[in-house]
Amino acid sequence: MPQRHIRLYIPGPVEVSERTWRAFCTPMIGHRGAGFQELYAAIQPMLRELLFTKNPVFLSTSSAWGVMEAAVRNLVRPGRRVLCCMSGAFSDKWFDVALASGLQADKAQVEWGRAILPELVEAKLKERAYDAVTLIHNETSTGAMNPLAEIAAVVRKHSDALLIVDAVSSMSGVKIAMDALGIDVLLAGVQKAFALPPGLSLFAVSERALERAKQTPHRGYYFDFLEFLKNHENNMTPSTPSIAHVFALKAKLEEFAAEGLDRRFARHLEMAMMVRRWAAERGFALFPQEGYASVTLSCLENTRQVEVAAWIRRLKEKHACIFDGGYGKLKGRAFRIAHMGDETPETLRRLLGWLDDTLEAKG
Ligand SMILES: *Cc1c(COP(=O)(O)O)cnc(C)c1O
Repeated sequence: MPQRHIRLYIPGPVEVSERTWRAFCTPMIGHRGAGFQELYAAIQPMLRELLFTKNPVFLSTSSAWGVMEAAVRNLVRPGRRVLCCMSGAFSDKWFDVALASGLQADKAQVEWGRAILPELVEAKLKERAYDAVTLIHNETSTGAMNPLAEIAAVVRKHSDALLIVDAVSSMSGVKIAMDALGIDVLLAGVQKAFALPPGLSLFAVSERALERAKQTPHRGYYFDFLEFLKNHENNMTPSTPSIAHVFALKAKLEEFAAEGLDRRFARHLEMAMMVRRWAAERGFALFPQEGYASVTLSCLENTRQVEVAAWIRRLKEKHACIFDGGYGKLKGRAFRIAHMGDETPETLRRLLGWLDDTLEAKG
């Protein structure tokens, strides 16, 4: 008997469609042959369109952390520093990752749930010179979405630092115009808003970041940006990629094109508004700072003192789906509902009905 499938409304991995699984199961090809080169070349224009960039978009067979670590290792030179914007579990950890990579790092830190504001970044940049700034666009642990355009403008205006942006849980759900904003590395894993199975990441790198990498020693091999570039020029990856992922990514990008990017972004916003409305009507407050709530997931404060773990158990039992009971120290205090990827206002309306149905234990 196959296991009963539990539909995922946690903020990653999210639900993967039958259609995507079928693409994933395309018969295998070699990664040094014309078939793969054609596949790689075919997705490049779609990826550049999605990220509003002329930069190459590289594929890494790793989760997002591989590329997050790689970005600081490739772009921060010995004796120079990186400024880490910190506002939640993922962005806090990026600071630790920089230290673990032997780099000198400073914090631009706010409390969990607050947004990183451009004034804070500006003040930090005026104190010291930095080789790079790390920023998480959508802090998945707290459901706060940082004002990326304003922060990017401040970084450009007040420093020569390269701007490294993690858009793991926002890319493809929210418009991010890489070139217009002056972002130097824009990265994401595919198990969030792309709704692909975990295991692949993609990242675009600016020309000046590639120039910087040339001056940075000890970039390693697996995540060396210059190795990615060299192979990219031949429509290949440095090592054997997860080819199944690349087939599935191509199918996904074709779906994005068929829907239209503007419609896709609008759909994500509409779903966020639905959940916010639902939460307000039920007496749940948004956990993140007002005005900075995420568009791809909602982190709701448990203002009603619900037993969240029991609620999720009832939902799983009765309707075969789950949401998230709170990240780390927020467990029980704030819970998270993902509304990204292939979800639609219709599937979300159904979920909200199920949430109502199971909110209270019935005797
Ligand atoms: C999920 C997530 C990550 C980590 O991704 P992995 O795939 O586990 O490496 C990093 N940053 C953000 C914002 C995330 O949501």
